[in-house]
Amino acid sequence: MPRPIEALIHTAALSHNLGRARELAGGARVWAVVKANAYGHGIERCFEAQRLVADGFACIDLNEAERVRALGWRGPVLLLEGVFEPRDLELCSRLHLWHAIHCEEQLEWLAAHKVLWPQRVFLKLNSGMNRLGFKPLAFRAAWQRLASLPQVEDVVLMTHFSDADALRLGQDGIAAQLAAFEAATADLPGERSLANSAATLRHAQRPLGEGMSVAADWVRPGVMGYGGVPDYPEHDAAYWGLQPAMSLRAKVLSVQEVQPGESVGYGSAFVAERPMRVGNVACGYADGYPRHAPTGTPVLVDGQRSRTLGRVSMDMLAVDLTELPHAGFGSEVTLWGRSGVTGALLDIDEVARSAGTIGYELMCALAPRVPVRVE
Ligand code: PLP
Repeated sequence: MPRPIEALIHTAALSHNLGRARELAGGARVWAVVKANAYGHGIERCFEAQRLVADGFACIDLNEAERVRALGWRGPVLLLEGVFEPRDLELCSRLHLWHAIHCEEQLEWLAAHKVLWPQRVFLKLNSGMNRLGFKPLAFRAAWQRLASLPQVEDVVLMTHFSDADALRLGQDGIAAQLAAFEAATADLPGERSLANSAATLRHAQRPLGEGMSVAADWVRPGVMGYGGVPDYPEHDAAYWGLQPAMSLRAKVLSVQEVQPGESVGYGSAFVAERPMRVGNVACGYADGYPRHAPTGTPVLVDGQRSRTLGRVSMDMLAVDLTELPHAGFGSEVTLWGRSGVTGALLDIDEVARSAGTIGYELMCALAPRVPVRVE
């Protein structure tokens, strides 16, 4: 018998969520962002559903790009961080990949490389995040150099927002970066790619110069494609019309009757103050559940809301069954996503918030040992 835990990938949700991104982004084309193995969902598992809507697939490295090509995708594939060493350009060229150029080194590697055919590159502006990209003062020179290379077919202008999900500095989170982007690119030709999930959700309709919006020509919705929302609390995924693409479910392995003063789990981190029924569930931090989730993190037991108790161990965690007299050995516990019993929803972002992290991390951390079923 396999251990009673599984993750479900809801493929209809994947197409639906990318469809939402397309609606919000008006006329923009939509990348399915499949980096980090499709945010932990599995590139191969998601592909057929994502290809129904996506205009392209955005990857983090050649391995992911090769996997997308191996699935038969002949459309655009983008390396979001470009190549990591010059010899990668060979495969990049053979696979017809588009790639970001974010630094002088990548630019010079390309200039020195014999390509099979001219390439489409995404020139990245560091508009304020100070992660990747050319600073505004260096951007124009980089663009001119690229545009003059025989290796380059055309240059797409790209940037990435650091705070599109935050209300900060009395502004709307993107104003300063947007202004920097507009100033640096105003008279440059070429398509634009700006918006991640947060910008797509909150700012997609926002005008950017003449006839353009933040959504520009290409949006890059990552987490929203999987039914999560970026790190801001005022609206949840349901508000934005997004559906969870992953559910994590396990079963109760044992039930303990606990008396007042008795403790539960490692470190005796939870001590009962009244008689309780405690269910121990086949899910622990080695499955990807966050160890730092405190007592009180929400779960669904047979579709009914309850909470975790005490410390998460490697292979198990404890949940409160006291108010759920019908729950017991073998009951289904939904750690996030939809209950298989009632269809009730436990938002991954709510679980993440309780554990002091973000839904992205929970999705990406799903452990390889967890069996995955696609439905
Ligand atoms: N575009 C780039 C360049 C990124 O690095 C990321 C993720 O970090 C995304 C898009 C997608 O971001 P999100 O998952 O917040 O939509």
